[in-house]
Amino acid sequence: MATAEPNQDISRKARKLASTSVLPFAILLFAILVAVVLTVLAMAQRASEAADDRIRTMIQIALTEAVHDVARDVYAFSELERPVLGRNSVLESQKLDSYLERIRAIGDFDAVSVIDPRGQALHTAVRLVYGSETPDKRYGANLRWAAAQLRDNLLANPNPADTNLVGRHIFEDHQLRLIGGAWNARSDGPGFGIVAIRSMDDLALTRLGARLSISGLRLAEPAPRANQIVLDNAAGARLGAALIWTPERPGDPILNRLLPIAVSSGLAIMIFAWLAFAHVTRVTTSMLNSEAIAHHLAGHDTLSGLPNRLRFSEHLAGLLPRAVDGDGIAVLFIDLDKFKEVNDTYGHAAGDEVLVGCAQRMAAQLRASDVLARFGGDEFAVIQTGVKSALDAEVLARRIIESIRPAFQLGEAEAYVGASIGVALAPANGKDAAELMRLADIAMYRAKNEGRNRACFFEQRMDDTLRLRKVVEDDLRHAIARNELELHYQPQVSADGSKIVGIEALVRWRHPVHGLIPPIEFIGIAEERGLIIQLGEWVIRRACLDAKNWPDVSIACNVSAIQFRQTDFVQSVSNALTETGFDPTRLELELTESIVVANADQAEDSMMELRAMGVKLALDDFGTGYSSLIYLRRFAFDKIKLDKSFLDSLEDTGESAILVHSVVHLGRALGLTVTAEGVETQDQQRFLNAVGCHLLQGYLFSKPVPAAQMDRLMAMENPFAVVTDYAA
Ligand code: C2E
Ligand code: CA
Ligand code: CA
Repeated sequence: MATAEPNQDISRKARKLASTSVLPFAILLFAILVAVVLTVLAMAQRASEAADDRIRTMIQIALTEAVHDVARDVYAFSELERPVLGRNSVLESQKLDSYLERIRAIGDFDAVSVIDPRGQALHTAVRLVYGSETPDKRYGANLRWAAAQLRDNLLANPNPADTNLVGRHIFEDHQLRLIGGAWNARSDGPGFGIVAIRSMDDLALTRLGARLSISGLRLAEPAPRANQIVLDNAAGARLGAALIWTPERPGDPILNRLLPIAVSSGLAIMIFAWLAFAHVTRVTTSMLNSEAIAHHLAGHDTLSGLPNRLRFSEHLAGLLPRAVDGDGIAVLFIDLDKFKEVNDTYGHAAGDEVLVGCAQRMAAQLRASDVLARFGGDEFAVIQTGVKSALDAEVLARRIIESIRPAFQLGEAEAYVGASIGVALAPANGKDAAELMRLADIAMYRAKNEGRNRACFFEQRMDDTLRLRKVVEDDLRHAIARNELELHYQPQVSADGSKIVGIEALVRWRHPVHGLIPPIEFIGIAEERGLIIQLGEWVIRRACLDAKNWPDVSIACNVSAIQFRQTDFVQSVSNALTETGFDPTRLELELTESIVVANADQAEDSMMELRAMGVKLALDDFGTGYSSLIYLRRFAFDKIKLDKSFLDSLEDTGESAILVHSVVHLGRALGLTVTAEGVETQDQQRFLNAVGCHLLQGYLFSKPVPAAQMDRLMAMENPFAVVTDYAA
């Protein structure tokens, strides 16, 4: 059967619910934030890249210009020195040295050379001012390159008027070198060229950077970065050098401002999400918890933890549609016997202990598919499944009763309880849950009434009785006023059956819907509801009136103990007699033993008064109680009526015959009239007659009949002729 949902389950469920409600928001917020940051990052990156591109172009232009500067400077020197250098292509080496040295120094060149129109290598020597290595090794290749370029250009375009400049920059020998050359054409001669190399040292680079507003311009190792120009060597191969600069990164300020905002927003979102998640989880958990607790409480008994009536009936309703003959369901209602005594004697805590103990013992008798529930108080119920026949339920009921029987240990003390069980079966008794529970309840009450500590199966007549009881309870109050009660009369006949000596009035209720209802169905309720006094008075009055038609016979009325105990009972009898004008000596009141046992003194007084009025008193149902005739002698009875149960056992055993015999004898010896009730057979009549019984009453002579029929019986000369003939 369902138990409380484990806490783990609840917290897992809560977390799931919380995450489904919080996470999407948090994720959305976070995604928006990330998108914004990424966009801005990309924009900043693009801005930075664009800046680097611009700087790179600027530097490249500046380098080209620097190379041109070298070439232009060289040209300017060629113009300046033309008179000397151009005049005589073959100079004295001493003189040429000093010229070139001047050009080198003024032009801030590292090397300078003059070449002839054939451009073949150097026409003259080069003078170097520094460097430990040979000029050819340090600058030769570059100077030769420039010379070769000039010669090529000259060959391609022999027009001497054109200015012919060449140049390039390369990285070489750990330096950025600017190479430039110029050809100075001569109309009168072959012309000459000058080539020169100017290296850009750190200072030069810094100056270039300052001019271009580029910071950090310097040489460095090439690396994968945007802020560099990789430099070539003379062979066009990329060597390990690059011109780099400090990137401007115009996007950075934006990023610098945005990133903290983004980071803090991200953090805020995460904290928010976490807090929201925690909060929602907590709220959900408590909701689920209280829901689960409420759900559990709604379905379970708090003391035993068992399902309660509600859950039981839900469960039953769920199972019933599948109940078929051979695989049915039994509903067992279990009411503990003597539990109240345990509670009263040992206290409620002990009572609770016993209840829990009972629950455990009963649970141990069940299969997993069965359901045990507690309905409150000392009421339990079981749904037994897979019931092949009533026997299965009977076996289980017996096992439950046996399990409850052993003592419950309450500290030092031992407590005993029993169980009364009512059983209803599905589909045999129906397939409606509420109806089955009602039927099991009825059967359980039957089990209680039949002496407890037993199981009773529901039978239809129990329900009929119960329904009738309900009708009686509802309608009895109005029965007298509506004149629905009527009296039937049963003759009391002399033992030989020859004549009617008395008549007993027996009440019936002619219910407009349910027909004739026998007294056994409503006398008890009339007593419970305080209606018996009114009813009893009506009976006596009615009987006295009817009996006026039947002279010479006594008329017996049954008196309930409750009615008799009324202080004005004697007075009310007296009133009835006066009002109806009935002869008191013909009235006989049938009292039960309980009347005299309960309050002997008061009963004795009333009885004396009644006798004083002339009314006769009969002890009804003698033999069903406990008192002996000797004890009853104290009371002023005129008559005893042997209960029908005496006669029922008469046929079975010889002992009963002896008992009846001696009781009749004793009664006679005490001076009492002895009447036998429930005489149904002629054998009984013969026997009772033989042992000295005075009067006989029973179906053998007549059933109780309406007054009109009694009139006819009384009018007959010998109403029981056949019977008596036979008896005789
Ligand atoms: P009771 O006073 O012992 O009445 C005898 C019952 O036995 C009557 O049942 C009667 O019909 C029945 N009876 C008579 N002869 C035979 C027989 O040969 N065989 C069998 N099996 N039964 C026989 P009834 O009329 O149903 O009354 C039942 C009980 O109701 C009475 O038992 C009496 O205790 C009570 N009762 C009836 N009328 C009144 C009344 O007016 N006032 C009070 N307080 N109780 C009444
Ligand atoms: Ca009676
Ligand atoms: Ca009786």
